[in-house]
Amino acid sequence: MGFDTSGLLPLSDALQGMLEQLACCCDCEQQPLPEALGRVLASDIASPLAVPPFDNSAMDGYAVRLSDLTAGTPLIMAGKAFAGQPYQGEWPGGHCVRIMTGAPVPAGTDAVVMQEETQADGDRITFLTQPEPGQNIRRTGSDIGKGACVLPAGTRLTPREMPLLASLGVATVAVRRPLKVAIFSTGDELKPVGTPLAHGDIYDSNRYGVRAMLARMGCDCLDLGIIPDDPAQLRAAFIRADEEADVLITTGGVSVGEADFTKQLLDELGEIGFWKLAIKPGKPFAFGRLPRAWFFGLPGNPVSAMVTFDQLVQPALAKLAGQRFERPLQLQAIAAEPLKKSPGRLDFQRGIMSQGPNGLEVRSTGSQDSAVFSSLSRANCYIVLERERGRVAAGETVTVEPFGGLLL
Ligand code: AMP
Ligand code: MG
Repeated sequence: MGFDTSGLLPLSDALQGMLEQLACCCDCEQQPLPEALGRVLASDIASPLAVPPFDNSAMDGYAVRLSDLTAGTPLIMAGKAFAGQPYQGEWPGGHCVRIMTGAPVPAGTDAVVMQEETQADGDRITFLTQPEPGQNIRRTGSDIGKGACVLPAGTRLTPREMPLLASLGVATVAVRRPLKVAIFSTGDELKPVGTPLAHGDIYDSNRYGVRAMLARMGCDCLDLGIIPDDPAQLRAAFIRADEEADVLITTGGVSVGEADFTKQLLDELGEIGFWKLAIKPGKPFAFGRLPRAWFFGLPGNPVSAMVTFDQLVQPALAKLAGQRFERPLQLQAIAAEPLKKSPGRLDFQRGIMSQGPNGLEVRSTGSQDSAVFSSLSRANCYIVLERERGRVAAGETVTVEPFGGLLL
């Protein structure tokens, strides 16, 4: 629409350019299993055991040897096997063994017949079905073989991995220390929540969004608060963050109006690139190195800050933390209404996806202005519209990216 987008950097190039420079910077440490929740595995976990560790019964019923079974002839019960109390002693020919779920099957068992397929008359058990060899027996190592890699290095431990590791008897785990991330917001107009606003002030919202994302990612956050647009204070904050953290994330001050100011400081302190990204919202973005720490400068507009965090910072932090990068989940949905779009930039519109009569459908949250933050909390996905695409008509297929895909 007359807007020159030729000089803009494609998102995929920016992401690739960043990831190529980054490597894991978090040392390995041993943690007891419960404390390892949320941490990233520093090495593969190979199973020290077979799971299950012995052949055992999948049912409550009777262990039998097929050669003992003759249709209609009952077998005498020779004894019992419980979980944790295996059957002891000889198993005489022509007998069966009462067995409970999880109990080791006695040596020589061919099958377990479930209780419901038998009739008991005291110790005399009649079998109503002819079992298949191996029926209802969970074989040693059928879930996990001894020595098999159960979790690769780079896995972030969630509640789903905890019982798995416990089942293998793993008491301590080699994990990465958390990535330490300093954050601050820049802007004379910003006030922290809990303080009154003067005319022209607004509340600092970005820092709370970024902090929340860092908490979900398992990073340690050093929150340096709000830094006014003042070179001396900014310089002190940059230096402190560089000394104390692995990464610094700031919001604001990287757009054309202010970039020169921040740029001067950052050029002097490190090597920072100021990029104009071919995405909407979130065009200005800065990335580079301070003497020790990596630097990510997000745009001030709250929606732009969130989009650039999700699309660029999150995968970069994952790499620095040693976590395996997984591309965000993308699905196809039907646009339930027309969507405004002009060619030239990759759009991340805020959408509400829902299950329609013909499959997944998506609607816009309304105004896509990058300052309209309320639209983000009404949305449950990004509608990702390709760079060259124009206006979308109702009924067209579009790509949606559910929120939280990487972190659930
Ligand atoms: P800037 O990138 O500093 O030019 O800021 C762009 C817009 O985002 C301005 O309207 C700022 O007031 C607003 N903004 C900047 N930082 C924040 C913040 N931390 N929270 C809310 N709005 C912000
Ligand atoms: Mg500003």
